Amino acid sequence: NTHLLNVLLLLQGELGWISYPSHGWEEISGVDEHYTPIRTFQVCNVMEYSQNNWLRTNWIPRQSAQKIYVELKFTLRDCNSIPLVLGTCKETFNLLYLETDDDQGSHFREHQYLKIDTIAADESFTQTDLGDRILKLNIEVREVGPLTKKGFYLAFQDVGACVALVSVRVYFKKCPYTVRNLASFPDTVPMDSQSLVEVKGSCVNHSKEEEPPRMYCSTEGEWLVPIGKCLCNQGYEERSSTCQTCRAGFYKSGFGNTECLKCPPHSFSHHEGSLHCVCEKNYFRAEGDPASMSCTRPPSAPRNVISSINETSVILEWSWPDNTGGRRDITFAVLCKRCRSVPADGSQRCEPCRSNVRFVPRATGLYNTTVTVTDLLAHTNYTFEIEAQNGVSSLAPQMRQYAAVTITTNQAAPSPVSGIRKEKTTRNSVSLAWQEPERPNGIILDYEIKYYEKEEQETSYTILRARGCNVTLGGLKPNTAYLLQIRARTAAGYGASSTTFQFETSPDSFSISSESSQVVLIAISSAVAIILLTVLLYVLIGSLCFVFKSKHPDEKRLHFGNGHLRLPGIRTYIDPHTYEDPSQAVHEFAKELDASCIAIDKVVGAGEFGEVCSGRLRLPSKKEICVAIKTLKGGYTDKQRRDFLAEASIMGQFDHPNIIRLEGVVTRSKPVMIVTEYMENGSLDSFLRKHDAQFTGIQLVGMLRGIASGMKYLSDMGYVHRDLAARNILVNSNLVCKVSDFGLSRVLEDDPEGAYTTRGGKIPIRWTAPEAIAYRKFTSASDAWSYGIVLWEVMSYGERPYWEMSNQDVIKAVDEGYRLPPPMDCPATLYQLMLDCWQKERNNRPKFEQIVSILDKLIRNPGSLKITANTTSRPANLLLDRSSLEVPSMGTMGDWMDPMRTLPCKEAFSGVSYSSCDTIAKTSTEDLKKVGVTIVGPQKKIVSSLKALDSNTKNGPVPV
Ligand code: AMP
Repeated sequence: NTHLLNVLLLLQGELGWISYPSHGWEEISGVDEHYTPIRTFQVCNVMEYSQNNWLRTNWIPRQSAQKIYVELKFTLRDCNSIPLVLGTCKETFNLLYLETDDDQGSHFREHQYLKIDTIAADESFTQTDLGDRILKLNIEVREVGPLTKKGFYLAFQDVGACVALVSVRVYFKKCPYTVRNLASFPDTVPMDSQSLVEVKGSCVNHSKEEEPPRMYCSTEGEWLVPIGKCLCNQGYEERSSTCQTCRAGFYKSGFGNTECLKCPPHSFSHHEGSLHCVCEKNYFRAEGDPASMSCTRPPSAPRNVISSINETSVILEWSWPDNTGGRRDITFAVLCKRCRSVPADGSQRCEPCRSNVRFVPRATGLYNTTVTVTDLLAHTNYTFEIEAQNGVSSLAPQMRQYAAVTITTNQAAPSPVSGIRKEKTTRNSVSLAWQEPERPNGIILDYEIKYYEKEEQETSYTILRARGCNVTLGGLKPNTAYLLQIRARTAAGYGASSTTFQFETSPDSFSISSESSQVVLIAISSAVAIILLTVLLYVLIGSLCFVFKSKHPDEKRLHFGNGHLRLPGIRTYIDPHTYEDPSQAVHEFAKELDASCIAIDKVVGAGEFGEVCSGRLRLPSKKEICVAIKTLKGGYTDKQRRDFLAEASIMGQFDHPNIIRLEGVVTRSKPVMIVTEYMENGSLDSFLRKHDAQFTGIQLVGMLRGIASGMKYLSDMGYVHRDLAARNILVNSNLVCKVSDFGLSRVLEDDPEGAYTTRGGKIPIRWTAPEAIAYRKFTSASDAWSYGIVLWEVMSYGERPYWEMSNQDVIKAVDEGYRLPPPMDCPATLYQLMLDCWQKERNNRPKFEQIVSILDKLIRNPGSLKITANTTSRPANLLLDRSSLEVPSMGTMGDWMDPMRTLPCKEAFSGVSYSSCDTIAKTSTEDLKKVGVTIVGPQKKIVSSLKALDSNTKNGPVPV
């Protein structure tokens, strides 16, 4: 690490150094300590005084050196060894230097030189064993610097010593070019001071810096503290501080100072510097396989497939393949096919199995060598292809192999029946339906239905068979819980039984029980009602008398002649159209339901706005109930949505057992729905047509009474229905009738019976009162007219009013005083009621309140129904002139109820007639016995109540 600036070998000729004065330093030949001949500069003027002899070198260029070193080799004579010395002998000499930017030639000025040091000898002479004295060579080194000019001279000053200069070596130190950690560092000259020089290295060819390489150059010219390094590129490896390419057959896939690796089995590299090796033909490398891994191939097929069939399931087992293709990531996949041979050409035609075939644990990615396949068809051929797969199977579809096995499943019994549900319940029968087994495993021959009373715990049971998925069980006890199980049968035998299903028959109810027991109930309830009424009457009459005391009787009549007597506390119907925002009305009157609480079962009808479905509603912490769901079909306009929901806004205001009850609405999700109680028997008109002539008179009157009661409630609320007709009455499983189909103008728009009148607007002509047709005077009185038509529809089991007459003819006939004739076998009282409802003068028609009480009386005395109106035979489709009616003439409801008219109450029938005041008074213990009231106490009370009622009706109105 030293760099010579100049070497003074005094052996070779003239060096051109300047000696001053010229008799001072001399160039002389001699020998060194090894007796090797050398040339020296010598001076030895010890015999003379005042010596000052200079020897100056040539000009030495500094180059890059800052600090230089001067090494001197010399001999110096000991003054003591010189005999006869004159006392000026010296044993040192001076070393000096002068910096200049250029060579000054022979020009020399003594005073310009700066002293470096005084040089003394360590040892002047050495005595030999023989007593000879030999010359001993001294070596001294001195530093000079920092130097700044381009070059310098050295000078040796002698002041009277005996010196021989043998060698002068001038040099400086540096850190030489080097490569460390694959980074090269250039020649670097250290600083003059004590600090280190930081040097950045650069990566050798085909390498890249991992961490920047650095080193420090010390003042002594030594490299210190190597930091950072470079790494050979991919395809290159480190060889003797350089990066060399990998040879053919080797590869290096990453950076780093690792060696190139030999290609793994089944791969090769033809070129130098390969990053990875290429797989041989039919060998592959999966994504994620390391470059050091052998190339591999798909496994061979699994071996020894065994199948064990159990009915419609099969367990498949197999052994590992012989050849795993050199990999460990083996899984198995099973493919299910149904194959049939084609008779024409004997070939096999296969199709994939149905998607409901189940594989346990799964069909693909199996780690174990077994799988269970279930839910196959019974008695069917299946082929299973089992394939071993590994990480490269998908790369070589042509090389995949599988083992196949063909099996035939056994005969199997059907799976259990599910989804048993009640369709209809009465007091002694129930209709049930269920779903076919999920896996019939053959053709279902029939179903076995086993049922028993819950309380009897299967000690006795009944078994029935049904061909289809429904059955009606008859002869059951009312109000009793039964348990039932169903199982299906195929040629393979019976399937497992369904889970036990429980149902209850309906309790005894008035509308369908035997007449006599019902009548008792009715009589008792009527009696209680009458007692209450009497009390109420006293109170009311008292207060009315107070109110009307000073008024004319006519004024009083006004309150009864024109619609509603509104009692305090009865709510009034609010037209949803009076709301600015109709949706506000919906939410005021209807509960918003969460669609998730509603399960739709099936479609039961079609409404104007969409389908009507049956379903179930389960509200949190409430029992699930059956409901009807009216939906608003997609693509509706805003108006349609408003009109659709208007019905809910109206219905939601009502709360009466004979008005269809609104459960709620769904408006916040789609489809928009109106949810009401479910009426199992649908609309009254079709229900009656279905059960022509099947009901007793009392049952029919029971239904009519319900409708009248609902209409009374509506008229009390101030609501005019406008479209009262049997088709708009719904019937539930207990034969309870409820008024439905509410709306505003749209009521008539959606009714198929609606016909346009001359004044515009759609009207169901056959059901509508003349004044409503003529000048749209819709009132509760026009509803009473419609009620009369409903009465006729009911008594004729759903006959069409006025049969096939045209609307125009109907309007005309009615206007001329013609009326519908009594339906076949119609009790005269009921026909009379119809005629009263069809009074031209609307104020003469009965109020619904009155209709209800008339019907109640009929129910109390069913015998009165025996007298029919059409005693003589007459064509059924002939309209009757009111004047020619066969019903015995009697006072109208108006007559009867109008306190201002004094027409006598005539006893027309032996039974209790609404128009016969006397009969009410005459209701005797005998009469009550007829309806089954036998206990003495209640009988007396009922009789006295009826009498009280009668006397009241004679004296004035009976506000109820
Ligand atoms: P609507 O839109 O009210 O005329 O209803 C159309 C049909 O759906 C009716 O004729 C009935 O057959 C049926 N329907 C409507 N509401 C109910 C209900 N609450 N229960 C059972 N069926 C109903």
